[in-house]
Formats: sequence, structure tokens, C-alpha cells
Amino acid sequence: MSKILVTGASGMIGSAIKELNLRNVVYLSHKDLDLRDFLKTLEIFQEIKPTHIIHTAAIVGGVGGNSAHPGQYFLDNIKINTNVLEAARQTGVEKLVSFMSTCIFPNECTYPLSEKDLHKGEPHSSNFGYAYAKRMLDVQNRAYHKEYGCNFVSVIPTNIYGPFDNYSIENGHVLPALIHKIYLAKKNEIPFIVWGSGEPLREFVYSSDIAKLSLWILDNYNENDPIILTSGIENSIKEMVYLIAEKIKFTGEIIFDKTKPDGQFRKPSNNTKLKKHLPNFKFITVEEGISKTVDWFLNNYPNIRK
Ligand code: GDP
Repeated sequence: MSKILVTGASGMIGSAIKELNLRNVVYLSHKDLDLRDFLKTLEIFQEIKPTHIIHTAAIVGGVGGNSAHPGQYFLDNIKINTNVLEAARQTGVEKLVSFMSTCIFPNECTYPLSEKDLHKGEPHSSNFGYAYAKRMLDVQNRAYHKEYGCNFVSVIPTNIYGPFDNYSIENGHVLPALIHKIYLAKKNEIPFIVWGSGEPLREFVYSSDIAKLSLWILDNYNENDPIILTSGIENSIKEMVYLIAEKIKFTGEIIFDKTKPDGQFRKPSNNTKLKKHLPNFKFITVEEGISKTVDWFLNNYPNIRK
């Protein structure tokens, strides 16, 4: 019988997998085990004896954390990933799915992003330590497949949002930061300030869809190359701002602060490979995803990561 181990259990994706209430799954968070320690990792894998692993654990941060600690982000993530994959190999794990992210793609690349372009250039200088460490997951997967025949694969989701995200205003990704800012603007009866023009487009995917897809990948996707997970639907920051404002019932002033950077205008990703494998998968709409996320945020504030 199969036994799945999920690393990063207290993070956004690990939590979304937990919500699916599957049987025979063991969840490990950083409170249970420091994955940077190989011997402890091996010991726990020998104890749990997982047949399958979904590896979501990582040391992550916003631009601030990434810029201040490129060395630490590089080393910690390299250790976590090499330890998990090596312990999985040594304990005979049949299948392992690990998470990368579209933010590790080359800074100068052609859009839409495609799996085959992952290594074709330097990542953005603001997160190069993290990005290179994450890219090594793909290298280790392929090397282990070639030498040991391991069935280890990786997935590359676009902008994930949902419950259990990091809602830091300064360091959070755009949607959790916006949700937190609108909440405070309503509470304090002050204008809500959005960074930039609101025009840029992003592909937002709800965490529970990514959880479901990762389980499908675990059972069905056996290619050695990574697969991008996205609906392929782009929404502007402005659309998302109005959706969140409506859900939070914020009626105050919304200011788009154009002195703040917009960043890249678009970062579209190619979902041809996903569509080829799963032509009928229905991603939930941003309306539904934001509604669920804001409900969770309101029910759990102030005990959220922020
Ligand atoms: P991400 O925050 O890592 O997802 O960064 P991206 O560069 O992919 O997207 C951020 C986009 O949202 C940019 O156009 C920002 O100008 C805009 N934005 C507006 N308000 C905020 C905010 O409060 N926090 C963040 N991170 N981005 C914001």
C-alpha cells in the first residue's frame, strides 16, 4: 500500500494538500524536522517508510529577504533539496514530486515561459541564490534518473495564492499583501494604496488546485522534465484589487501609487504540456478563489503569517 509523505506541511501548498483529507499521508513541517540535517532526515524517512513524497518545503522570502540573504537562501535550499532527494533515493521512494516556481526562470527570456527554457540564462539578480538552488532540483532529478532510475519529477506553478500564505505587507506576494492592506484600510478608515499602475498582468492559481494537480502528477506524470502548472489565464492587478475590495466590502478611496514600480508587465507561461496531459482540468475562478481566501483571512486574523 502506498504511503505519501508531504514536506512543508505548514506552508500554503502543504496546508492545501491537508485540506483534501487523504488517507495514508504523513505531514512533516519544520517543527517536526530540520530538513537541512541529512542524518535526521534519513532517520525519519527510514522510520516513516514513504512510498511517495510531495516535497514543498523551502526557505522562501520576498524581495527583501532574498536580497539580504542570497547566501543563506542558496545554502538552506540546496541542503533541503539534496537531503530530501538523497534520503528518498536511499530509502527506495517510488515517486517524488518537488516544487519549483516561475520566479526562478531566466531574467531575460522569451515569453510565454516554457519548461525547456528553465536553464537558459541567469535568474533575476534579486533572487539568484534561491533561484539557482531551486533549479538544482531539476538537475538532481535528471541525474538520479540517469544513474539510479529514480522517478523524481518537478512542477513549476505560477503565482499561487490561498489560505496559509505569508500575508506580510512589506514582504508578501502581491495578493496576500493586497488583502492585508485592504483589511487595514477598511479597519482604520484610510485610503488603500496599491503599488504601481495596476495594469500588470499575472497568472494567479489557487492553492487547492495546485494541491489537486500535485496529486495527479504523483500518480500519473512520469516524465523526467518539469511541468508548468497554470490555468493560462491572466488577470490585471487592478482586477484583483477590485475583487478583493468588493469581497472585503471596502468602500474607501483606492489609490494607484505610480511612483512604485510596476515590475514586469506580463509573465505569461505556457501550459501546453499540462493541457496535453489533463485537457479537462478546471481551475477555479479568481472570483471563487479570492472569496475563499478572504474568508479564511478574516476568520484567522490575527493568527496568520504576516
Ligand atoms: P510578487 O509580489 O512576487 O507576486 O511580484 P510580481 O512582480 O509578480 O507582481 C507584483 C505586481 O503587483 C507589481 O505590478 C506591483 O507593482 C503590484 N503590487 C501592487 N501592490 C502591491 C503590494 O502591496 N505588494 C506587492 N508585492 N506587489 C504589489
